[in-house]
Amino acid sequence: MSQILLKNGYVLTMNEDNQIYDGGSILIENDKIKAVGKVDDKLISSDAEIVDLNGKYVLPGFVNTHVHTSQQISRGVGDDVDFQTWLHKRMFPFESNLTEQDSYVSTLMTCLELIKSGVTSFAEPGGQFVSGMARGVSEAGIRGKLAKSVMDCGEGLPKVWQRSMKMELDDQIDAFEKFHNTADERVQVWFGLRTIFNDSDEIIIKTKELADKYGVGVHMHVAEAKSEIEYTQSVYGEPTVTHLNRLGVLDKNLLAVHTVWLTDEEVDLFKKHDVKVSHNPASAMRVLGFAKIPLMMDKGICVSIGTDGASSSNRMDMVDEMWLTSLIHKGWRLDSTVMPSENILEMATKNGARALLDDKVYGQLVPGLKADLIVVDPKGPSMMPVNDKVAALVTAMHSNNIQDTMCDGKWVMRDRKVLSINEDDVLEEGCERAKAIYRRAGIVLPDRFPVKKIYQ
Ligand SMILES: [Zn+2]
Repeated sequence: MSQILLKNGYVLTMNEDNQIYDGGSILIENDKIKAVGKVDDKLISSDAEIVDLNGKYVLPGFVNTHVHTSQQISRGVGDDVDFQTWLHKRMFPFESNLTEQDSYVSTLMTCLELIKSGVTSFAEPGGQFVSGMARGVSEAGIRGKLAKSVMDCGEGLPKVWQRSMKMELDDQIDAFEKFHNTADERVQVWFGLRTIFNDSDEIIIKTKELADKYGVGVHMHVAEAKSEIEYTQSVYGEPTVTHLNRLGVLDKNLLAVHTVWLTDEEVDLFKKHDVKVSHNPASAMRVLGFAKIPLMMDKGICVSIGTDGASSSNRMDMVDEMWLTSLIHKGWRLDSTVMPSENILEMATKNGARALLDDKVYGQLVPGLKADLIVVDPKGPSMMPVNDKVAALVTAMHSNNIQDTMCDGKWVMRDRKVLSINEDDVLEEGCERAKAIYRRAGIVLPDRFPVKKIYQ
């Protein structure tokens, strides 16, 4: 038995009442939280590791409910281009030229950024190599719900992705059987659907049936761009969410990502079926849309936060994404009272856990749940003085204020040093691999300013 006692912290439990313990402790035993608040000395073993937090914050680890690990090494591939150019001329060539080893290294790079921004659990919507992603997450020491990117139709797909429904479904079942609940159950496999552009009605229905059969979720980009709604209107005579409802796939195990273009009636459908939402403000703004997040929150829909991929929003940083979530809805609603900081902390912690069907596993600092947590040190000119302690975590914190990250009762970062991954080696290899893929895929980014190469 191993124990760690964190004492004298400002502990935001994010439990049902959002109880805070000022000067509180957390006792961790093996992978779980044993006690929180005032911890009875009798519970603490003589060889427990004792950490005095001197008033620093402790929170549940953040949950990033949408992050493309395979896109990490494509960062910069789509800045300032339109959506169709981004997708067909940049992303498809890039992703279809990835190897399994590229996917593994890209996943490690993603996990570095996630751990350093306090993320202990994430959901990946679908890369080409679940095996590479699973290896990466297993080593990184955090949790991932992994899926294959599934497509059985659509214009302009690279040849390697032109596959039948049966091939796509069989591959997912195979990945599920090989990798689900591996690495002490930190690695789990979900079923993926890329977008309604690339998934037939039949594959959407069959995917939902499989997810129900295996007791996991479906991760899908839903109503992401205006062009998507124009497409579904022209092909099906109805917008995306109305169509998904007609197919009977709106349900509590559907994680719908972006959800920018919904009518108010479609928001009600989400509520009725307990569909989970992943709000990705940075990438949503890039494809020009503001999701109706305040309305969804008012209606009690479970809304969580995701960063999307590095080719869409560049920053896989949940702290930045929380801050953006707090800002953008105030702006377009012309109402600075919407989306208060306490709601945003809920979205990033326990709502994220619920969205990933893990609310009985982590997302709150309460006895019996997994010890997934972060320690925040507000010291520094960008966060001090801390007057409004809860709001400061959303409005002033930067990810470099996150001092330590723990997942499954193990430290994966201490004093900003990631312990599970060799940061320098992975970054170097990732950069080399990125260059090689750009070459293979024939992607040439134009010079934005005139460049004169001078070597000395
Ligand atoms: Zn995405």
